[in-house]
Amino acid sequence: MRRIRRVKIIATLGPASTDRAVVAALYQAGADVFRINMSHADHDGMRARIAMIRSIEEELGRPIGILVDLQGPKLRIGKFAEGKAIVETGDRIALDSDPAPGDRARVHLPHPEILGALRPGHTVLIDDGRVRLRIVEAKPQRALAEVVVGGLLSDRKGVSLPDTTIPVSAMTPKDRADLEAALPEGVDWIALSFVQRPEDVLEVKRIADGRARILAKIEKPQAIECLDEIIDAADALMVARGDLGVEMPIEQVPGLQKRITRKARRLGKPVVVATQMLESMVVAPVPTRAEVSDVATAVFEGADAVMLSAESAAGQFPVEAVAMMSRIGDEVEQDSVYRSIIDAQRGRASVSTFNEADAIAVAARDIAEQMECKSICAWTSSGSTAFVIARERPMAPILALTPYRETARRLALVWGVHPIVTKDASDVDDMVRRAAKWSNREEFSKEGDRIIVIAGVPFGSPGATNMLRIAHTGPEV
Ligand code: PGA
Ligand code: MN
Repeated sequence: MRRIRRVKIIATLGPASTDRAVVAALYQAGADVFRINMSHADHDGMRARIAMIRSIEEELGRPIGILVDLQGPKLRIGKFAEGKAIVETGDRIALDSDPAPGDRARVHLPHPEILGALRPGHTVLIDDGRVRLRIVEAKPQRALAEVVVGGLLSDRKGVSLPDTTIPVSAMTPKDRADLEAALPEGVDWIALSFVQRPEDVLEVKRIADGRARILAKIEKPQAIECLDEIIDAADALMVARGDLGVEMPIEQVPGLQKRITRKARRLGKPVVVATQMLESMVVAPVPTRAEVSDVATAVFEGADAVMLSAESAAGQFPVEAVAMMSRIGDEVEQDSVYRSIIDAQRGRASVSTFNEADAIAVAARDIAEQMECKSICAWTSSGSTAFVIARERPMAPILALTPYRETARRLALVWGVHPIVTKDASDVDDMVRRAAKWSNREEFSKEGDRIIVIAGVPFGSPGATNMLRIAHTGPEV
């Protein structure tokens, strides 16, 4: 089963996509990776979803990626005696360590480390920024704030602190437990929310210990300040526009999206654009023009993947949303201006790190274009060769041939890569012959077409991509 579309689609699963038939339909409509959001799933629910996805994978015979998204330190205020309280602009309200129910003068902030880190002048946003406070007095047990924008406060509303670096790891005890539960299930990607520093990513990496790849969600201003270091530490990134648009002025999100996408592409790490892409399809069978344009923008920028959240998790039209996204991807990639926009942001390893694999990838792209090769077939064990070729954003589809299921599943997230699980090649002839066979069988080429085959020889030495062959595909053998 072949997809022509290069940009990948991540569909979040939720109450609207619990049935096996719906999940299978989401895959058929174009979803390449399924996301399980641990803000809403418990461990049994997660395991049931993973088992279901793997059984669909088995049935369809195509690798499917699974991304488990850790909630991270989502901060919340405590409860109110009356369930809610209205604060008016100019009022003062205290955030304190007292668990007693709150009122319009004070409310519990059940995060002692946050109370300790607040300073006069810091902004506190409650309920996605609907209510805005500014700290005027900060003590370890109690911070007094002035209400800058008033409104309704209610039990357990979310708190964002754009100015405060939270002095804890991005992983809460819940995240650790979720991570420990997810890793043995064979998930492919772990997403970490509210990353502030590269150490946050490295900590998850240490625990995952190669069992899953780590995606850093960029949704805090602190992360923007050390973006290069975070990209370096992570295996992939997400422009998490939901929280990013609360933690930073919303009008800065489009520019940030472009900057993050470009940087990730330059550094050769996959990048996902997420949140509200087809939001109106939660309740309507067709999106707005603005949403179509938003998805198209991410595709034109060369994002590796675009993501659906509520649209596929809780909406009324989950399959239609995936199909719509897929159609937009297909159409943009056929557009006559697509190539020039994609190429303008072509990534390249810096001179100091440029290695054999980079050289082979650059050559593969140029040769494929000059000689009209129908596919670039890369033998890869860790997947790294496929990542490097994807960075070049070649016109020819990338077939990643790997003996490892895990590698194939991870590559489901990567731009332009069609992963295939097959046993390792025994020698160079076998490698060329079987690459050609797969390329034809998956309908990327037909007998007599030219293809490119890439590998590292000797076989079985990971990270040693050093061979490029231009081959003609022969008859099926
Ligand atoms: P979330 O992440 O849906 O887990 O909050 C995405 C975002 O913030 O955009
Ligand atoms: Mn978020």
